[in-house]
Amino acid sequence: MRTVIIGAGQAGRRTAELLRGLDAEREILLLGEEAEPPYDRPPLSKEILLGEEHPRGLMQRDIHAYETQRIALLLGERVEGIDVGTARVAKADGERIAFDSLVIATGARARGLPIAGANDPRVLTLRSMADARALSARLRPGLRLAVGGAGLIGLEVAAAAIQLGCAVTVLEMGDRAMARCVPETISSRIETWHRAAGVVLKFGCRLTAIEPRREALRLYTSGGEIEADLLLVAIGAVPNDELAREAGIAVEDGILTDASGRTSHPQVFAAGEVARIRRPSGRHVRFETWQVAQHQPVAVAHALCGTERPYAELPWHWTDQFGHNVQILGAHSSGLDWLLRAEGERLSCLGLDADGRVQGAVLIDNGREATPLRRIIAAGKPLGRQRLLDPSVPLRQLC
Ligand SMILES: Cc1cc2nc3c(=O)[nH]c(=O)nc-3n(C[C@H](O)[C@H](O)[C@H](O)COP(=O)(O)OP(=O)(O)OC[C@H]3O[C@@H](n4cnc5c(N)ncnc54)[C@H](O)[C@@H]3O)c2cc1C
Repeated sequence: MRTVIIGAGQAGRRTAELLRGLDAEREILLLGEEAEPPYDRPPLSKEILLGEEHPRGLMQRDIHAYETQRIALLLGERVEGIDVGTARVAKADGERIAFDSLVIATGARARGLPIAGANDPRVLTLRSMADARALSARLRPGLRLAVGGAGLIGLEVAAAAIQLGCAVTVLEMGDRAMARCVPETISSRIETWHRAAGVVLKFGCRLTAIEPRREALRLYTSGGEIEADLLLVAIGAVPNDELAREAGIAVEDGILTDASGRTSHPQVFAAGEVARIRRPSGRHVRFETWQVAQHQPVAVAHALCGTERPYAELPWHWTDQFGHNVQILGAHSSGLDWLLRAEGERLSCLGLDADGRVQGAVLIDNGREATPLRRIIAAGKPLGRQRLLDPSVPLRQLC
């Protein structure tokens, strides 16, 4: 019995290790196009840029750990095709590898900017360790860095760069920071941290063209022109689902799976950020978070072994900026009424639906409330607003 896993990132590594824990006999091949052994990406826009050599959370195992676990890790190997008819994958060098079951864990790539001048070498994106090293090597005091996009990655890079002495301008076409995942109150707190540190935030500002000049980049935006030495484009991620689509597997901005990671083909599974997972509500959702790459492979490994452990966790992710930790739990639909539960600098912002049920929460430096809030959201019971918002009432009393 041989399982081939395409993509040696976080979800690929987790699937391989969990599978080995469940099945001592099976042959496991983990194929990755990067030169690096698997690693977790969150430190790339945080500690790595700030010069930390061995950041907590990188989770990079020694290469020998794979030998010990009898996981055949093949690095620098890009898979170029899947033939589900003959149950084989084709590597870039032409070699074909047979599988009994296949896991696609190819993650996502940074979305490019489809405008003139974007192919200049001073225009960068950030997805891999190699990208982080290239960016880190260029961040120096006085460098004029423009960041396209005020999402999680763009703002983390802006925070690191200003701390390294760069002059940073963030260009965002929306009207506030991290609008996709936090309510307005939280956006304005995050914007305050950035402005206090000297980051220039320009909202309602769409990049329209880049003119590469010898001495600098001239950036044309809907809000005027600016000069920059470097532009980091951080405008989202695109799932690497082409292999699946070309193999005839159902894809819709990500590979469609059930809660156990099964795709539309019985021998093929998908894990991590490339998967669009069926949720308990019946909707399919694709998550761009560490949590899903870490925990959804549990469901995949079990399904590969014929047992069921459907993935149904509440969504959670975090960002770290200027020493503040922001945790984002649950739903962020527009219909929610966002209320503050604050105690000094620590706060939880709770999103209540029309029936008074907490559907989502954003915590600033208040990780201790994450566990009770998860329980409260999962329970889905209406709770009295007064008690919910009183910081002297511990949330664990309400779950
Ligand atoms: C800079 C950055 C910061 C982040 N910070 C946070 C954070 O603070 N909090 C949070 O919750 N999440 C964060 N994330 C998101 C989180 O890291 C990702 O969701 C997670 O890495 C997804 O894991 P994955 O294994 O699905 O994909 P990936 O980690 O992208 O791994 C996929 C691997 O597959 C390889 N691959 C692709 N195609 C092929 C092919 N054809 N053949 C062989 N190999 C292939 C890729 O090169 C890659 O190595 C961050 C992401 C980035 C990029």
